[in-house]
Amino acid sequence: MATKYIFFTGGVVSSVGKGVTAAAVGRLLKDLGFQVAVQKLDPYINVDPGTMSPYQHGEVFVLDDGAETDLDLGHYERFIDVRLNKVCNITTGQVYAEVIGKERRGDYLGGTIQVIPHITNEIKRRIAMVSKTTGAEIVLIEVGGTVGDIESLPFLEAIRQVRTEVGRENTMYVHVTWLPYIGATGELKTKPTQHSVRELRSIGISPDMIVARSDYPVDESLREKIAVFCDVDKRAVVPMVTTPVLYEVPLLVQKAGVGEYIVQRLGLQPRQQLNWQEWENLVEEVKRPKPAIKVALVGKYVELHDAYISVREALKHAALHAGVELELSWVHSAELEKGRGLDELKHVDGIIVPGGFGSRGIEGKIMAARTARTEKIPYLGLCLGMQLMVVDFARAVLGDESANSTEFDRATGNPVIDLMPEQNAITDMGGTMRLGLYPCKLQPGTIAAKAYGEDLVQERHRHRFEFNNTYRKQFEDLGMRFSGLSPDGRLVEIAELSDHPFMVGTQFHPEFLSRPNRPHPIFQAYINAVCERAGVEYHKPKAAKK
Ligand code: GLN
Repeated sequence: MATKYIFFTGGVVSSVGKGVTAAAVGRLLKDLGFQVAVQKLDPYINVDPGTMSPYQHGEVFVLDDGAETDLDLGHYERFIDVRLNKVCNITTGQVYAEVIGKERRGDYLGGTIQVIPHITNEIKRRIAMVSKTTGAEIVLIEVGGTVGDIESLPFLEAIRQVRTEVGRENTMYVHVTWLPYIGATGELKTKPTQHSVRELRSIGISPDMIVARSDYPVDESLREKIAVFCDVDKRAVVPMVTTPVLYEVPLLVQKAGVGEYIVQRLGLQPRQQLNWQEWENLVEEVKRPKPAIKVALVGKYVELHDAYISVREALKHAALHAGVELELSWVHSAELEKGRGLDELKHVDGIIVPGGFGSRGIEGKIMAARTARTEKIPYLGLCLGMQLMVVDFARAVLGDESANSTEFDRATGNPVIDLMPEQNAITDMGGTMRLGLYPCKLQPGTIAAKAYGEDLVQERHRHRFEFNNTYRKQFEDLGMRFSGLSPDGRLVEIAELSDHPFMVGTQFHPEFLSRPNRPHPIFQAYINAVCERAGVEYHKPKAAKK
């Protein structure tokens, strides 16, 4: 069948959950038996978000092939349970870099290079790459930003052209908007949606469906009004009321008849009956009152929870499967350095130190690792969290408080975490880390090996620094186990302590591969250890296989 395209644009305001809506629709179509992939078009000029501060952009989500992408790709992978690739996130920066590169090589033979057609053609070429590289039959495409932004215009023009090229029957435009609530009169307002649709029309795109996000129930008359003013079928006006349960969105989308409408509109025959039992059970389990466990996440971007979104989701997945409620406290590592909150940290059931870069707040994270080690609190270190667990251990066993990673102290006498030789000569910051999927061999009898129940796993990486092998033998003798190694034995992928209930650090980012219905084994083992510490009843799950 011809590839079908569903485009998602945003109206009225940003952050209305376009990414989650696209992900939920993707899930629905996958469960109807179609091969689905999602692509995000980001209008900013950075080549990728890899060089952006998490304060600007939230988390950087890493794919198997090492692409550093927008956090929406995390929603897509988690909801739809797919593995995406680097063509699934494109930016203005990438598009222009490609076109300018061709111009310099002389590929345009004297032509004048313009937004239309050169930039829009390059965007369309990249849109077409999705089905070619993933085999997807239905490609969902989310345009970042809000209609009316100057920088998204070339993307909107490109997606408009796609309809004329592949046909109306193969394309659909979904506009996701926001209905503001006026407290004084107690009303939801549709006017901003009408304006936004008019704006979209003025650039030649008529939406086929409007998803109207709202914090309050949307009644029938409002749906009718939107349908009439925006010229879409009433069935295609989908009210989407805010839910505290993220994974309920696919069910809401389904209940609103979105699946049927899309299938009909695109002339598709569902290949299988929807079976949502597993998903419904999941949502029911989220809502069920459960015993609580307290986990402290120690980081330096904690004001912005989106900076750690995959870590939070992975913890939630594992807690859900253990049948417990995750109470996550966000601890600022710089506060710990000032002596604030360290005592409270001793009373949590688990500590987690996620990834990060740069020296701000580093000592606070080392304090967190120290507290976990000395108080025997379950600890999970992810990438930087693993490196700092090693630094704390080094300081304790070597009796040298200045032991460090050379990322934070180039002159340290004990560089227990150091640059890989191949990183020494690199000067460019963008896309030059150890990125993407690498194999990791598990050492029998370790906590990590038991958690996985497998000998060889593949995990996603994003770092420059590594455990310094000069210390390997010595640390092993002192109680650190290197439970995961690269198959050639050269790189430490997982470290753990032997005389501790659960102190595990991974050089990779397991959080990127956790799924709501299939928690990551390392997160599951960690949460189980946290439950033991908290003394709460939990389901001992069957070995979670990836
Ligand atoms: N800054 C560390 C490194 O580059 C850790 C990176 C991370 O946590 N993702 O190795």
